[in-house]
Amino acid sequence: MTSQESLSSVPSQPSNKPALEPSLSNGISEVEVWKREPSHRVFVNRSLNLDKIKFFGFDMDYTLAVYKSPQYETMGFTMLKDRLISIGYPTDIKEFEYDPTFPCRGLWFDKLYGNILKVDAYGNILVCVHGFRFLKGSEIGDLYPNKFVNLDEKRIYVLNTLFHLPETYMLACLIDYFTTSKEYERNKDGVRCGELYMSYQSIFQDVRGAVDWVHFYGNLKSETVANLERYVHKDPRLPVLMDRIRECGKKTMIITNSEFEYTNKIMEYLTDFPETKGRKWTSYFDFVVVDAKKPLFFEEGTILRKVNTTSGKLSIGHHMGKLEQHCAYSGGSCEVISQMIGAQGKDVLYVGDHIFGDILRSKKQRGWRTFLVVPELSTEVHVWTDQSELFNKIKSLEQTLSIIYKNLDSSNMEKPDISNVQRAMMDTVHELDLSYGMLGSLFRSGSRLTFFSSQVQRFADIYAASVINLIHYPFTYMFRAPAMLLPHESTVSHENTIPADDFTIARQRSVNNENKYAKVQHVPHLRPETPTKVTHHHDDDDFEETSSNSSDKST
Ligand SMILES: [Mg+2]
Repeated sequence: MTSQESLSSVPSQPSNKPALEPSLSNGISEVEVWKREPSHRVFVNRSLNLDKIKFFGFDMDYTLAVYKSPQYETMGFTMLKDRLISIGYPTDIKEFEYDPTFPCRGLWFDKLYGNILKVDAYGNILVCVHGFRFLKGSEIGDLYPNKFVNLDEKRIYVLNTLFHLPETYMLACLIDYFTTSKEYERNKDGVRCGELYMSYQSIFQDVRGAVDWVHFYGNLKSETVANLERYVHKDPRLPVLMDRIRECGKKTMIITNSEFEYTNKIMEYLTDFPETKGRKWTSYFDFVVVDAKKPLFFEEGTILRKVNTTSGKLSIGHHMGKLEQHCAYSGGSCEVISQMIGAQGKDVLYVGDHIFGDILRSKKQRGWRTFLVVPELSTEVHVWTDQSELFNKIKSLEQTLSIIYKNLDSSNMEKPDISNVQRAMMDTVHELDLSYGMLGSLFRSGSRLTFFSSQVQRFADIYAASVINLIHYPFTYMFRAPAMLLPHESTVSHENTIPADDFTIARQRSVNNENKYAKVQHVPHLRPETPTKVTHHHDDDDFEETSSNSSDKST
């Protein structure tokens, strides 16, 4: 505990002043709800009772170890250029400069036409860029009927993670270079230069291969560990958080795809503070799994071997005994490790940044509860508040539009001119999009949500900008999801009076209904009785408790 108390920046009690904020849900009477300040908050898609979590699992890269942006991506981009030149790409590309304002996560790359696409949950195209050129609506329609594309793995590659940012930008740079250089002739699915034909598919494969090479055989890792301060964020609250979890009787584990040597150096750095001197990083974790090979880890997995933490060498053969605390293991599978440590699906909260490798698989295959780390949330929430003027402008344009249409109904034959309002609306949304970056927000494009958003909503129970945000909540906390309002709920206030009409079916039953139906002879029940116990639940986590304990309407 001394380490915690001596770290002045670490609250031992929730020192952040909780804000009293009105509920943001339109249509529901504004009630004041205590909330932590936005930068400390964990956001909730599905209710989760921390009290019931027995194991806290953590991914390492971009979860515990957040790489500094744009330094880390710039380094990756430079190494990527060198690798591409070494396999025969023109030396001109040495001049490309990494531009962090261009790429964002969750984009799709269409290998057939060489386009970077921002799509909604269903594959409807919101933005389409060829190289650096943003296609007009009509051009998108020509290439993609109904501006729609299927998530066909042969054609589409989803640029899911933060590691993909330099790759996304390199694809844009190369396609811009080849399609605008005079020596190359542009075709629908590639470029020609004399006898040389390069399809967009082959450019994609070269870039993909070069990225893998830089990660596995290049200097990315050695440069990172040689310059940790330059490339990795460090926070004194991390070791404190790990200690606090374990002090509550819960277990911590790290499950990373990185190998032991790299994990060892990164974690040593992340837990090395004057207050923690002499303490091994493995002492913060009950179980350590490296080389996990997620998402394979959540399926059949690989051979589980013990790691010699001094030499970094792996033992031969399968590890069959118990998992020893504070030791490190390589590979394995979720099923084997869960059995060894006695963890069942809902006992585990897994914290990761990879929507597919960490979150989707652990939830779908294993029923783990999931916490997605989205470092971009800091920027997203900043723009959300910083650009309030633009949001207000959109509201005011909506108001103007509503006034134009106010007194019109189906008897009106004249078409009001709304072109100016529409143009102003598009310009404002464009300005807002640019506040997030050239491809707009990670979560939305105007009023429409992105594919990434829909995956977050579907698979991440909770999410936050940083794993550290957990430090602001007690480990008995009940994360409760706000109600998701549909348009007929969000635009109709409870204060409105909507009288019942001929189409309103009287289906109401009251908890005070008396179940007194006439006795019948031929069927056991004339009607179903009104339930006296709670039957509808939305806080899944507490359902068992509620249903077994509830004996009356007051529960
Ligand atoms: Mg990661």
